[in-house]
Amino acid sequence: MSDSTSPTSHASAPGQEMPAFPSLPHWLARWLEPWVRRLPAVRRMLQAQFRRVAEMLRRELHPYDQDPAVPKFLHLPAEGLPQEEVLRVLEGLARWEAPRWQEGYASGAVYHGDPEWMDFLHRVYALHSQSNPLHPDLWPSAAKFEAEIVAMVARMAGAEAAMREDPAARICGNVTSGGTESILMAVKTYRDWARATKGILHPEMLLPESAHPAFDKAAQYFGVRAVRVPVGPDYRADVDAMRRAITPNTILLVGSAPGFPHGVIDPIPELASLARERGIGFHTDACLGGFILPWAERLGYPVPPWDFRVPGVTSISIDTHKYGYAAKGTSVILYRTPELRRYQYFTATDWPGGLYASSTMAGSRPGALLAIAWAVMVHMGEQGYLEAARRILETAREIREGIEAIPELRVLGDPLWVIAFTSDQVDIYRVMDAMTRRGWSLNGLQRPPAVHIAVTLRHTLPGVARRFLHDLREAVEEVKAQPATEERMAPIYGLANSLPFRSIVDDMLHLYLDVLVPPME
Ligand SMILES: *Cc1c(COP(=O)(O)O)cnc(C)c1O
Repeated sequence: MSDSTSPTSHASAPGQEMPAFPSLPHWLARWLEPWVRRLPAVRRMLQAQFRRVAEMLRRELHPYDQDPAVPKFLHLPAEGLPQEEVLRVLEGLARWEAPRWQEGYASGAVYHGDPEWMDFLHRVYALHSQSNPLHPDLWPSAAKFEAEIVAMVARMAGAEAAMREDPAARICGNVTSGGTESILMAVKTYRDWARATKGILHPEMLLPESAHPAFDKAAQYFGVRAVRVPVGPDYRADVDAMRRAITPNTILLVGSAPGFPHGVIDPIPELASLARERGIGFHTDACLGGFILPWAERLGYPVPPWDFRVPGVTSISIDTHKYGYAAKGTSVILYRTPELRRYQYFTATDWPGGLYASSTMAGSRPGALLAIAWAVMVHMGEQGYLEAARRILETAREIREGIEAIPELRVLGDPLWVIAFTSDQVDIYRVMDAMTRRGWSLNGLQRPPAVHIAVTLRHTLPGVARRFLHDLREAVEEVKAQPATEERMAPIYGLANSLPFRSIVDDMLHLYLDVLVPPME
């Protein structure tokens, strides 16, 4: 059995054999790109490279294809397998995959993962597995869960203080399927709000470079122009640059608390007050931080304001399925006012199938996931989240100090629990590969090249942080001692980071998605 893992951390490519492209100014590269790619020699070379990359991706992303012990079904079995047999296959797969995340080798990915916690979750699922909030007559409990999840999360995000200070504020929201959907909904809401109240037909939103690609996805899906604004030397949003990028078509400013790449918190009060002055929306993306920052603040960590207590903040996304410790598949989108939230809604009044209304993207939804999020929050309580945050923040401090003690490495920015680091002396992507060989699944970053670890409860188990730092020291020594050889991500990330022709990187990503779920042969 080849080791299996999250796809991107294992993808490898014969990048060393890619010709070295000269470094070109971006505008020149963009202009040259279509012409260069049309040259027959370049086309042939790229085709050959893509074939080889596809082959390697197939091996890395589908390890079970080479394992005769794992049955594969490309058509329905004529007669169904007995449940016991199906369960045996599933047990085998779970057994192979569990140790890495259970033993804390992953960055992010599994945020809680204790066995008793999983048992609890599974019992809740079993009780509500048939529930669908699209039918509130059958499952009024689903509406209860959603309303209470929203209320509890809103209170964590400063709703009560905000409503005391701002008479117009009546914090509200919905549960979505994840951070991405929360962000999609926010962007759609501001688009329709700006169209209805200001007549803006060509909307734009300003994103610090560090903001999550879910905003670009929303931009693509909903026809909003996304303008990326460079961040400052501390990797936080640059307020002056954001101010200068505002146009009459700007509908929304975004800040993260914290951002995914470097785990640093944008200057939300400054950005939100800018948005407020201009009468536009401001979204705090607290997908990653919403369930840590309130407790970090109580624990005395330096937490700059990020929530509804900041007057200009008009919406916030917070993921219950990350540090809320719910099952994957839930997040919360919050708005300052119900007037704003109405632009999120979808209604169909004239369908022969009946009157139809839904608040978010999905039609039918898994009510069991609402039940789990509700149950986990009620079970954790303030004390549970506070204690979890304390353990995570303390472990993260140990990890950060350990990284800072490695002379070849340098921590980026001033993070609390998502720690990005790079090196001025060794290739950081080769360090990441050396960590992958030791079982770790870390996140590769680019611009600048770096790696991060998002610390979760899995890392607070005894010995995990020490093992991480031990392996990291070894990995750095190994990279220093050995010349580059057959590696995994180093060439592909090195290439992606340096390639002036972004359409080639883009093609690689399309290829990756195709290989992940291949078309029929
Ligand atoms: C995880 C994350 C998202 C997207 O969330 P998904 O749940 O993966 O869709 C958005 N923003 C930030 C800062 C995140 O960490």
